[in-house]
Amino acid sequence: MSACRVCNENPASLPEGLPEARFCPKCWDTRLRQMFMEEDRFYIQRVFRAADAEKYLVYHEEHEGGGTAVGQVVAVHDRLADHLEVSAFLYDRMSWEESVPFIYEQGVECEVAMIDILLGVLEAELIPSWRCHSWTAEVTLCRGEPFWIDSRDRESAPDIDTEE
Ligand SMILES: [Zn+2]
Repeated sequence: MSACRVCNENPASLPEGLPEARFCPKCWDTRLRQMFMEEDRFYIQRVFRAADAEKYLVYHEEHEGGGTAVGQVVAVHDRLADHLEVSAFLYDRMSWEESVPFIYEQGVECEVAMIDILLGVLEAELIPSWRCHSWTAEVTLCRGEPFWIDSRDRESAPDIDTEE
């Protein structure tokens, strides 16, 4: 068994299921804790709710102190298949491909892109709330600022069932 790549002392036994283990349990815990702290900097707020669909805004504390959304997520649930389809649109207000180094006392071990940290948040928080059997996600990196159209009323469509 090889030594842990971080502390170089304890035998490496994690991650499980890989042909070559790289970390000892102690350093692995530290790594996971750092990841959780980074995930905590994202905040997801639900802004729209329908029976089978919800829309969320994504905030990150590094962008204007979390005051302006950095992306939006739409989740649509197909009841028949019990499948959740997630679409994430990430604004270029934040550099999503920028990676965060996870630093141990012994030095830098790995880098994780912001986009992967957000996907971790979606998988840990948003998707389980749907309790669906399966899910897929499509992520779009948007360029430029989004724009909105104010609420507009539509004349109701003629009801073809009322007249015989
Ligand atoms: Zn170690």
